Amino acid sequence: MNFADLGLSPEVLNAVEDSGYDTPTPIQEKAIPYVLMGRDVLGTAQTGTGKTASFTLPMIDILASGQAKARMPRSLILEPTRELAAQVADNFEKYGKYSNLSMALLIGGVSFSDQEAKLDKGVDVLIATPGRLLDHFERGKVLLNGVKTLVIDEADRMMDMGFIPDVERIVSLMPPLRQTLFFSATMSKEMRKLADKFLQNPKEVAVAPPTSTAATVTQGMVTVGKMEKRPALRKMLAHEDVKTAFIFCNRKKDVDILLGSLIKHGFNAGALHGDMSQSHRMETLDKFKNGEISLLVCSDVAARGIDVNSVSHVFNFDVPFHAEDYIHRIGRTGRAGQEGHAYTLTTRSDDKFLDAIYKLIGREIPPIKIDGMEDIAAEAAEIAEREKRISGKDKSAGRGGRGRSERGGRSRSRAPKEAREEAEVNEAPREKESAKAPSNDDVKSSKKPQKAAPKPRRGRHDRDDDDAPVVGLGENVPAFFKIPFKKTASK
Ligand code: AMP
Repeated sequence: MNFADLGLSPEVLNAVEDSGYDTPTPIQEKAIPYVLMGRDVLGTAQTGTGKTASFTLPMIDILASGQAKARMPRSLILEPTRELAAQVADNFEKYGKYSNLSMALLIGGVSFSDQEAKLDKGVDVLIATPGRLLDHFERGKVLLNGVKTLVIDEADRMMDMGFIPDVERIVSLMPPLRQTLFFSATMSKEMRKLADKFLQNPKEVAVAPPTSTAATVTQGMVTVGKMEKRPALRKMLAHEDVKTAFIFCNRKKDVDILLGSLIKHGFNAGALHGDMSQSHRMETLDKFKNGEISLLVCSDVAARGIDVNSVSHVFNFDVPFHAEDYIHRIGRTGRAGQEGHAYTLTTRSDDKFLDAIYKLIGREIPPIKIDGMEDIAAEAAEIAEREKRISGKDKSAGRGGRGRSERGGRSRSRAPKEAREEAEVNEAPREKESAKAPSNDDVKSSKKPQKAAPKPRRGRHDRDDDDAPVVGLGENVPAFFKIPFKKTASK
């Protein structure tokens, strides 16, 4: 089958041809004809399957006739993260280049006024994260009763991130007579129940989730002690022919710490996680895409679905808590038949997670040898020694509170699910916070640090002993420490 058989217009077909695609992917083949018919679609497909084009291409044709009214978008695409929303917007531009459609992107962290100006003119397509959309709605800047086509993308991730109540509210603001396309990487009972609320007599389309990893990706695993992870990663980076790499951590705070360490050791690295400002995230991603940054340290949520070509390596600094994330992560390399490498650092306590990964991918990850492991052991011993010294000093400082080294130990021993939630839920409140932001001032709302965002660790990156634990109370300062002293009037 080719694209011309799917019933798409010449304008869209030309844009597809310019993109260099000659054959529709399975999800495109299955979904596009039904979307063009106006049917609701319940799609099970992950990022990387060509899912975005499976709804954007037919939507461009559906929207070709009709006129946008001020503040009343004709279609809406909901995405869980800003990066995914921005990526879908890029896709819309790419595939819609011969169609005269207007589009607005409503995501947290970017100027309200630009977004409002677009809404005022009237848009055919609105691409938004739920929090920012509700924010605009509450300010009276957008009305949803003109939406005739709704896409709820990455619904399972929306659920993980606690966005479902927002999505339900958004849907309640739309006319019941509309076309709804609902996509999720997984289709659990819960997902189906949710889909039932939004869809009418949907056509189900599914492409098997990749349970195997691409044959073009060479996988390997190195088992180290906890203290050996950073030196081991450096060794791998030094010995491998790394052009560009994603380095995944399970927790946002570790993304920051690892970034500091890599920069200090002279690596050209950047980071991507949910506590960064939107402009900083976009800037970092652009730098990574155009090769200015070669290593991108990131969390799963921030990197989900991010489409960068020719990534030579993926490193799992932490074994992911969810086996499917292993497939998502390593799918960032070895794309489009290119060669890729995915290496995972494991510690003894990761066995449970490794077993789940093996079960999912149907094979074990082969252990690999890194040259110079002996030095790593020596470096790790030095780090452990330094840690002991520092934590000793910390205790003798007599604060009686929890030092960071202790805090590190505590968080490591926490249930992984909890830690995972911490990693993910922390991404979510940004959207929620912005939804609550009372200010009309875009400069303020985009630049003012969000109240709930953890403070950056000052001076951390300047330290010589960057592998040592962070000393002090860190983000765990008890509230009463922060109460300013009131001078009592001297008599
Ligand atoms: P997605 O699953 O939408 O994130 O798409 C994953 C990647 O596949 C993106 O880089 C798309 O540009 C690309 N892509 C989408 N459709 C096709 C196609 N029919 N042939 C080749 N590549 C495609």
